[in-house]
Amino acid sequence: MKPLQQLTRPNIWSLAPYSSARNEYSGKAAHVFLDANENPYNTPLNRYPDPLQWELKKSISQLKGVAVENIFLGNGSDEAIDLPFRCFCQPGKDNVVAIEPTYGMYKVCADINDVEYRPVQLDENFLIKADKLLAACDEHTKLIWLCSPNNPTGNNLEREEIVKVIDGFEGIVIVDEAYSDFSRQPSLRHELGRHPNLVVLNTMSKAWGCAAIRLGMAFASKDIIDLFNKVKYPYNVNLLTQQKAQEALAAKFDVEKWIGMLLQERSRLMAAFRDLPICEQVYPSDANFFLARMTDAQGIYDYLVERGIIVRNRTRVQLCKNCLRVTIGTRSENNELMGALRQY
Ligand SMILES: *Cc1c(COP(=O)(O)O)cnc(C)c1O
Repeated sequence: MKPLQQLTRPNIWSLAPYSSARNEYSGKAAHVFLDANENPYNTPLNRYPDPLQWELKKSISQLKGVAVENIFLGNGSDEAIDLPFRCFCQPGKDNVVAIEPTYGMYKVCADINDVEYRPVQLDENFLIKADKLLAACDEHTKLIWLCSPNNPTGNNLEREEIVKVIDGFEGIVIVDEAYSDFSRQPSLRHELGRHPNLVVLNTMSKAWGCAAIRLGMAFASKDIIDLFNKVKYPYNVNLLTQQKAQEALAAKFDVEKWIGMLLQERSRLMAAFRDLPICEQVYPSDANFFLARMTDAQGIYDYLVERGIIVRNRTRVQLCKNCLRVTIGTRSENNELMGALRQY
């Protein structure tokens, strides 16, 4: 890895971040707060939330087995996807490399930040060799984007190849593990000590059933986390989100139960798809969705919409011609989908 200062945009490296009232005060226990121009009435909504979310991070630290100083929390993963561009990539000059197909937000953020996006195609099994990704890099490549389990394909990338990318690249490698709670592969967040250039993303939007509260996380070295914290909006995670996330973490047995049910339903639904005459291939999945190649994705998609059932039509995505991406629902939702498909 290049020294972090060399990877970081000069304006970000020298940035003096906004210092909020709550940031500057850290002393004895206080009870009169006249420092932030807040309204003294309407507690607790009148007070600015903790800008660094210490209490919530302590809970997440315990659950995820990652030290608090290695955790960044954001307004969904979306924020944790945008920040590496803003911290590391000089608009109009630097570039990033990513697998293709994958989650659409990496390219959107690249475009917004005026950073060249270099997609590298997966093979026919939706896998990739490290050498192919590294060959797409040049001296202006700051980031490599990986997603495992990958969206929309559903499969894990090979661990050995991911590690080769991390070890073989001078810049930052971001591995989006939004679906890792459904996967048999252990998370890379436990390997942070060995890889100073690794950022692992996670979210409460999928297995945790909390897409509405917008809480995403990044795990990385303290130096990278400090950069993210310097650039983020001061109060990026609001009080209600911090409270709801704590409640969700306290009920983690619900989550384990949901994951168990969804994995069982996934097997059942994938088997049912394989038996459909209109389904040509069901791709392996380590996520709470799977990709299926159909005889006529557009026709089937439109037919399902007519019946009030929405799946994701991925037919226009690279390597995904005639593919539908199906999220695992409740048993009765899945049955309704299968009933409709059998009558197509
Ligand atoms: C759904 C998803 C996310 C979640 O994004 P949030 O902003 O946290 O809701 C992140 N990455 C991938 C690959 C996803 O599919």
